[in-house]
Amino acid sequence: KPEEVAGVRFGGSFTMDIPRTRVPEIAFMGRSNVGKSSTINCLTGLKKKVAKTSKQPGRTQQINFFILSDAEQQDLATLVDLPGYGFAKIGMEDQRSIEVFLEKYLSDREELKLVVILVDSRREPQATDIALVNTLRQFPCKTQIVMTKIDLMTPSNLSKNAQAFAEAAGLTDDDEDLIFFSAVTGQGRGLLWQAAQEAIAM
Ligand code: GDP
Repeated sequence: KPEEVAGVRFGGSFTMDIPRTRVPEIAFMGRSNVGKSSTINCLTGLKKKVAKTSKQPGRTQQINFFILSDAEQQDLATLVDLPGYGFAKIGMEDQRSIEVFLEKYLSDREELKLVVILVDSRREPQATDIALVNTLRQFPCKTQIVMTKIDLMTPSNLSKNAQAFAEAAGLTDDDEDLIFFSAVTGQGRGLLWQAAQEAIAM
């Protein structure tokens, strides 16, 4: 992690109603089980139990906050774990209320600097992931696509899936647009931090 990040603390869980922080925010989105909590944990060095990996996907739609601070205990940035989507078990009504929340959040959230879209590198392009990428293009915020769990992939299969995804999502240069990430090996951590810092500095 960057030198200026001295500490990380859990900022609380919220349901659809989140406080103003006036601190730059990086949000994480992706299908349930894509590795969202693991990525946040790996990035911050938080223990698994803190950014809890939900074993009952879709049940509680909580928005978890993690606050990064510097040596003087000043808040530097917030990492926001947004609700999962594209999960069949969650009811239509819940799904709709999440969509309404997300639309407002993505349009109005002054703090929001970057949305990290997580995609499972083991899968061929998923319609819900492509839809998310396209939906986010309608909002002003910057995005960064991250392919997760790359430790489970051979280089050739990884590049095959990445290329297929880049094509399906209409990305222009996949090397620039995609970050390959593993929460197990920590690969891609530096690049993701860099993308986050660049977005915060803008
Ligand atoms: P979330 O539902 O998106 O928050 O996903 P989790 O972080 O809970 O991860 C879902 C499952 O994938 C868990 O069993 C994790 O241990 C596993 N997982 C997450 N990231 C990685 C990774 O980079 N490599 C491997 N091998 N497994 C991972």
